[in-house]
Amino acid sequence: MASVSRLSRPNGAFPHGRGAYIDLLGIAGARSMEAQVKKSELVLRAKPAPVVDPLTEAESLTALAAQEAGCTRCALYKNATQVVPGEGPPKARVLLIGEQPGDMEDLSGRPFVGPSGKLLDIALERAGVPRDKCFVTNAVKHFKFEPRGKRRLHRKPDAGEIDACRWWLDRERALLRPGLIVALGATAIRGALGRSEAVSRLRGEILDLDDGAQFLATVHPSSLLRLKDESDKRQAWRGFLADLRKIASWIEKDARAS
Ligand code: SF4
Repeated sequence: MASVSRLSRPNGAFPHGRGAYIDLLGIAGARSMEAQVKKSELVLRAKPAPVVDPLTEAESLTALAAQEAGCTRCALYKNATQVVPGEGPPKARVLLIGEQPGDMEDLSGRPFVGPSGKLLDIALERAGVPRDKCFVTNAVKHFKFEPRGKRRLHRKPDAGEIDACRWWLDRERALLRPGLIVALGATAIRGALGRSEAVSRLRGEILDLDDGAQFLATVHPSSLLRLKDESDKRQAWRGFLADLRKIASWIEKDARAS
């Protein structure tokens, strides 16, 4: 497990003010609602993607996203609004993998636009990771949920769903050829490595992969949002930043080498 260092302001500080972690923790409450995009706007912005034969080899990430829109490899497409493909610069050197789209991602068709994504953006900025060097995607590309009244409660994808969706993750990797793959949480680790490993076993270490890329595991930002105790939140935040700073160091080293 990565050592947790005490980080100094501004970059390592626990975020305060608007958009802060504390606000994000209360994202369902009235105090933070102003920072969120209205769901009705997200639905209006969602465009149905053209469906393309998934068996032909996509030559671009855009073509791949169109293929993903027609995927029926597991049952998750049946109840989701739409597929949520990866997003970012096609020459990104870092691939960040999350778990699955959440409610807001499902409505917008874009990854990491909900509370976890907002927290990730803040953490990347504090850790000094240039967002434009990162391509973000999910291990599973349709929203898995359980209806509860008017709400849709997140449900964790199972191993079969993660393995079925590796088809798309592998193609994203083949097209991007990232130098560093960062798995955010256990689902992402399984998607990236094809086997289950505890986050605590791999966390914070840069590892070599067979294809020449390197690999870093850390927690999913949603795990920070679930914490209740203030001291746990601060410790988790510092640990998350410590992991993300390894991405910043990797990017600097990679730029020097190229
Ligand atoms: S979750 Fe992945 S494998 Fe399952 S239908 Fe959606 S794109 Fe296909």
